[in-house]
Amino acid sequence: MASIEEYAPLVGQAVIDDLRLLAEKLKGKKIQLINSTSVGGGVAEILNCMVPLLRELGVNTRWDVIKGGERFFEATKKFHNALHGKSVDLTGEDFDIFLETGRKNMEDLDTGSDIVFVHDPQPVSLVEKRSDNKWIWRCHVDISNPDSKIWNFLMEFIIKYDAAVFSAPSFAHRLAIRQFLISPSIDPLSDKNKELPPETIKAVVEKYGIVRDKPIVTQISRFDRLKDPIGVIQMFRQVKKRIDCQLILAGGGASDDPEGVKVLEEVKAEAAKDSDIHVLLMPQNDIEVNALQRVSDVIIQKSLKEGFGLTVAEALWKAKPVIASSVGGIPLQVKHKYSGLLCHSIDGAAFELKQLLNSPGYAKRLGENGKEHIRNNFLLTRHIKDYLLLFLSLYHGEDIVYL
Ligand code: UDP
Repeated sequence: MASIEEYAPLVGQAVIDDLRLLAEKLKGKKIQLINSTSVGGGVAEILNCMVPLLRELGVNTRWDVIKGGERFFEATKKFHNALHGKSVDLTGEDFDIFLETGRKNMEDLDTGSDIVFVHDPQPVSLVEKRSDNKWIWRCHVDISNPDSKIWNFLMEFIIKYDAAVFSAPSFAHRLAIRQFLISPSIDPLSDKNKELPPETIKAVVEKYGIVRDKPIVTQISRFDRLKDPIGVIQMFRQVKKRIDCQLILAGGGASDDPEGVKVLEEVKAEAAKDSDIHVLLMPQNDIEVNALQRVSDVIIQKSLKEGFGLTVAEALWKAKPVIASSVGGIPLQVKHKYSGLLCHSIDGAAFELKQLLNSPGYAKRLGENGKEHIRNNFLLTRHIKDYLLLFLSLYHGEDIVYL
């Protein structure tokens, strides 16, 4: 695990000095992060990188994961889809199991820290137990167009927090509490993003039976319909008629996402009989994800909804040309025709993929611009600074609203 000083060559010493100064001001405060999984998906990815650095900076930080059974995670996955605007049949039983599991976690978890920082809807109801400490709700979901039933239900809890944090301006809602805009980040020194020697990349590629005799196009994602893996295959088939290339669809599961197995089966069925489509169910292995991103010629993220899309930042940091849907937090990262290409449909993505495969110089330029865009805006050090400022702002009046 990298120490905070190792980030200085990448972001400048002044950034590190700022972090130390802000951390010093939080001396004596206990910070508690709470979410619903320690492995899989973007939130766990960020917290695993961030917590050790906060502790190294001297911020007294603990991280707790709520517990829930299969029915709870089925219900919260429905909530997740409904928050993304999908039409979902939410039943009374879904709400009951949600509230019941919340109560159980309230009994089991000590939430007496000075600041309780709750991530995403799964643990949102814990706030019922709040005393006079500070509570923040951090939403990583694309809530630009939520189903009103679920939004109104969650709102009952959200308004009991001191502040809410969203990833992109389009997710802001009318709220009776303070809201902050803080975009997520990647850790440039983690196994997921650090430079890799060619032998490591070669070993991973061989392990998965990928031959490097034609361009490689990749989407890394949990197998989730909102990541549109079937749409990616349809796009690939259009391109394949003109340019010989191969597609990697790689992903693992998250313990709070029960739909993954079913979606993986659908993807395998769609890809069957095409030896140029590699559907890889990967163990949680950051070096392997890193290697697949690095070996790719183009990275796709054709999500239908996306809170932020860490996979986009990861690809851009590796200076890869990216084609990604213009949804959620993705346009913060991909500035069309500058740091990648935005797409709005399968046909559009296919057109852009042909363009990038036919114009390697243009593709390279997009990737290089993308890397600098990530360096300037979406690295972990900026994210930690925003969070430290957020924590401090809770002890000040309304004078600090925007970070
Ligand atoms: N990821 C991974 N292995 C996989 C699939 C995804 O390590 O098989 C990682 C991916 O590299 C990224 C995170 O999980 O760091 C996914 O975050 P993102 O914001 O892209 O999507 P989410 O899963 O949170 O919707």
